[in-house]
Amino acid sequence: MIHDGLSVLESRIAADLARTAHPRAPWLKPVTGPDGTPAHDVIIVGGGQSGLATAFGLLRSRVDNILVLDRAPAGQEGPWRSYARMHTLRSPKDFTGPDLDMPSLTYQSWHEAKFGIESWDELNLIPKGHWADYLAWFGHVVDIPVRNEAEVIDIAPADGLLAVTVRSGGAQQILHTRKLVLATGQESMGDWSLPAPFSCLPASRCAHCAETIDFAALAGKRVAVIGAGASAFDNAATALEAGAAEVHLLCRRPEAQVVQPYRWLTFRGFLRHLGDLDDAWRWRFMSAIMALREGFPQATYDRCAGHVAFRLHLGAPVLSAIDGPGGAELVTPSGPVAVDFVICATGIDIDLAVRPELSRFAGNIASWADRYTPPATERDERLGRFPYLADDYALCERVAGETPWIADIHLFSIASTMSFGASGSSINAMTTAVPRLVSGLTRGLFRADAGRLWAEFQAYDEPQAVVRKPACEPSS
Ligand SMILES: Cc1cc2nc3c(=O)[nH]c(=O)nc-3n(C[C@H](O)[C@H](O)[C@H](O)COP(=O)(O)OP(=O)(O)OC[C@H]3O[C@@H](n4cnc5c(N)ncnc54)[C@H](O)[C@@H]3O)c2cc1C
Repeated sequence: MIHDGLSVLESRIAADLARTAHPRAPWLKPVTGPDGTPAHDVIIVGGGQSGLATAFGLLRSRVDNILVLDRAPAGQEGPWRSYARMHTLRSPKDFTGPDLDMPSLTYQSWHEAKFGIESWDELNLIPKGHWADYLAWFGHVVDIPVRNEAEVIDIAPADGLLAVTVRSGGAQQILHTRKLVLATGQESMGDWSLPAPFSCLPASRCAHCAETIDFAALAGKRVAVIGAGASAFDNAATALEAGAAEVHLLCRRPEAQVVQPYRWLTFRGFLRHLGDLDDAWRWRFMSAIMALREGFPQATYDRCAGHVAFRLHLGAPVLSAIDGPGGAELVTPSGPVAVDFVICATGIDIDLAVRPELSRFAGNIASWADRYTPPATERDERLGRFPYLADDYALCERVAGETPWIADIHLFSIASTMSFGASGSSINAMTTAVPRLVSGLTRGLFRADAGRLWAEFQAYDEPQAVVRKPACEPSS
């Protein structure tokens, strides 16, 4: 029955895609790289939800010569089967995403086909494993070409194209492409941060929340989780459920952030047009929203609060950490906290130079600090490091003319947020942000091909009708 449901849905999708395929005409011509091998029109780095949705949008625009690369094994893309330590998605079940507004491709349609309509009606939040299964099915059903276990380690200019160095199975290969999308997720422009006080702790005592952590080994141990966002609570809950003796969640601020600013901004106007505002308005909105950080949902809190071993410390920034044979002592303004293991859920730091694929040109990627000086009351050094993107999500040069080819590298990740609001790395924004990105990509390809298209138009002589000679010529 279950399989029948999915195969019926897949037939419906095929019909829906066929009915909405207009205009069907291919419009791009094969391009060859400098080494004589075929080049791609677009390579997408990252086969998570953003990469898949972008690929789908491109296929719908008849940009067929594309390839998605992901360093993770098939099915392991994104955080869902690794460091996402919640049971369910935090976002409401009816947020649509990679379907790009095609009803038969939504999570709801997949869920109803697989588990029944009643199951959807009864569902509160989407189990994260189901979301990962849905994404894998989505990529398969819309036929996205994905190469897994293929890590992009360098991007360079190559005779008007981009040369993309891919490491796969111990070997390296160079692929050529006209355009490149970095859909590389949360750490796209930096890395998970370990705040300064923790740098003295050995790896056996301290990890950031996106690392693989042996939670079973924390049974009976004292654990500190640094941060108070949803991921901090998820890690605390996982440690509690693994039998940790004490879990201390240390929140720097005097109050926990319970308001979720991303709920407020969930309306088409903001999601679609924040990126159309001038720099002052974009900075004002996004610096305020990002300074608040994401609030955690009730279920995330309740998962911790139900355990007697859980302690929430508010107004407890860690001033220093001292490692000793009996554990680590974390010094806070309200006294020391002694623990055996520390998990930092303190977010991502923007540091382009640490990304191998960016290192060749990281120094010439324009940041917000390069382009905009906010009023003193709105200054934020961390947010100033976010890349300042063009209206098609392309990287901009810090010094014009040094690396002009980076205009063909488009960034669609969490680091796009300062320029466009919720956009890359967001389920919430996918239906508005992906079409804008796809439109930017097709605009660039079309503009670059204008000369070739003009010549093709000049040569176009396909008659649409046959004009027959009239039976009687009018008499002169
Ligand atoms: C723990 C966690 C929980 C979240 N929960 C929610 C939620 O409940 N609801 C919600 O709306 N949002 C949530 N988000 C936010 C967002 O939806 C996720 O981060 C989502 O995974 C973003 O999708 P993405 O495709 O942009 O990035 P990802 O899913 O992270 O995919 C990026 C991919 O790029 C690949 N990659 C990176 N670098 C390279 C390279 N150099 N070469 C090749 N491949 C590379 C990675 O292997 C990865 O598969 C959550 C985020 C996190 C971190």
